[in-house]
Amino acid sequence: MSGGANSYDVIIVGLGPAGASLARLLAGSGLKILGIDMVDWDHVWGKPCGNAIGRHHFSETGLPEPRGDEVKQRVEGIDIISPSERHVLRVKGEGYIIDRTKLGQRYLREAAQKGVEIELGKQAVKPIIEGGAVRGVRVRDSRSGVVSEYKANVVVDATGNSGVLRRRTPRDWPVNEPLKPVDANIAYREIMVLDYEIEEPSFIRIYINQKIAPGGYWWFFPEGRDRANIGLGVQGGRGYPPPNKIFREVLMKRPEVRPVKVLDASGSLVPTRRPANTLVWHGFIGIGDNAYTVNPVHGGGMGYAMYAAYSAAKAILEAHETGDFTARGLWGANIRYMRGLGAKQASLDVFRIFLQNLTDEDIEFGISHGIMKAEDAYETSVSGELRANLGALEKLTVILKTLKRPSLLPKLVLVGRYMSKVKKLYLNYPERPEDLQAWVTKLESLYSEYKRALGIDW
Ligand SMILES: Cc1cc2nc3c(=O)[nH]c(=O)nc-3n(C[C@H](O)[C@H](O)[C@H](O)COP(=O)(O)OP(=O)(O)OC[C@H]3O[C@@H](n4cnc5c(N)ncnc54)[C@H](O)[C@@H]3O)c2cc1C
Repeated sequence: MSGGANSYDVIIVGLGPAGASLARLLAGSGLKILGIDMVDWDHVWGKPCGNAIGRHHFSETGLPEPRGDEVKQRVEGIDIISPSERHVLRVKGEGYIIDRTKLGQRYLREAAQKGVEIELGKQAVKPIIEGGAVRGVRVRDSRSGVVSEYKANVVVDATGNSGVLRRRTPRDWPVNEPLKPVDANIAYREIMVLDYEIEEPSFIRIYINQKIAPGGYWWFFPEGRDRANIGLGVQGGRGYPPPNKIFREVLMKRPEVRPVKVLDASGSLVPTRRPANTLVWHGFIGIGDNAYTVNPVHGGGMGYAMYAAYSAAKAILEAHETGDFTARGLWGANIRYMRGLGAKQASLDVFRIFLQNLTDEDIEFGISHGIMKAEDAYETSVSGELRANLGALEKLTVILKTLKRPSLLPKLVLVGRYMSKVKKLYLNYPERPEDLQAWVTKLESLYSEYKRALGIDW
């Protein structure tokens, strides 16, 4: 394919955490690669974000860790705070609050140094589909308005929630899978300089409170001693108030939210579901938010986008060896992602649905009675297997009955069972595209069964 000036082996559309990571991972492979984004250099990775990322994502993908001024704050752990704020689960784990733009710029600079062509200020309009496969992309130059066509063996949609290419694929393609509003959070955050010093800036804080952030949580992520990224996510599709309104009316009254200056304020959508059924189709790969690769419980998407990029990079190299750019040739991206982080992500999606249906009283009860301890929370989030002290809960069943919470133990057991079932299904992700539909049918019936058992109608 890499013959003409506008012909490439790979075109990556969108250079956020997913696309820039892919460009960085493929750089130096000998493939002719073009990466485009509609933003300019100063707005690289500019999507509003809490900017928190676990350190393990870098070792899992081989991507360079942030350094120098790419790090706003080193993180030692997370404090998960109960609705009454009387109980705190301290979960230790290394990570960073990053300067997204600086880290993104480095990945792009390093990719360009190794031969990847990077073009900013270019907006993808739609995919070019010929003979039942994606063959290229139509791109508009943001300044001149001129539209050009670029061709490639593989076109990667890394455009985040907009999914500009994926959404314009034919409706009967399995990658064209819409996002239900209830499977997303609407999130908003402000970065502010505070009028006081933060005591322990290396511990980021997550406040669980269904009254403040229904179906999500609100956070306080220090960026040094005198500033913080503060925000909240609210489940979509359930008629809850918009998060910027809650921010203004509730969070601004909190004692820890005392800005002397607001540096940035904006919001966006976070998909909080299991991964898309398939990342690939003929000539096409979707990675990052547009393929729903986000941790459904905490909403962290950067590390998952990187892992999706890592899975895609391997598949792209394999496809260029075999010369097969159909779904079958690119299928390795699915196998790697789904049987790796995807399996854990899907089982956490089962947990997320349960959590979104709990009351503050249930959550307070669980945290205060040691039903979920810090190690359990960590293990659950790492393995996707429910780790909870069910023994403690069992001993408490008598008390639970008097407390009118008798259904919590059987519910937790049920949730744990479905988390394992869904994880197992992902570990058995189909070897071939031909078997995808049968697998999706099984998955969907497992979800329906689970929601019915929990009495959830959304
Ligand atoms: C308020 C908020 C807080 C969050 N907090 C965290 C957090 O603390 N930690 C974490 O890990 N995740 C967090 N997330 C999620 C995280 O931001 C995303 O998961 C992550 O940015 C996804 O990366 P991406 O590359 O898939 O998409 P994006 O970051 O959205 O990047 C997509 C890129 O595609 C480009 N693009 C879009 N359309 C076109 C087009 N037509 N043509 C060309 N280019 C295009 C965009 O300009 C952009 O550069 C948060 C999200 C929100 C909204």
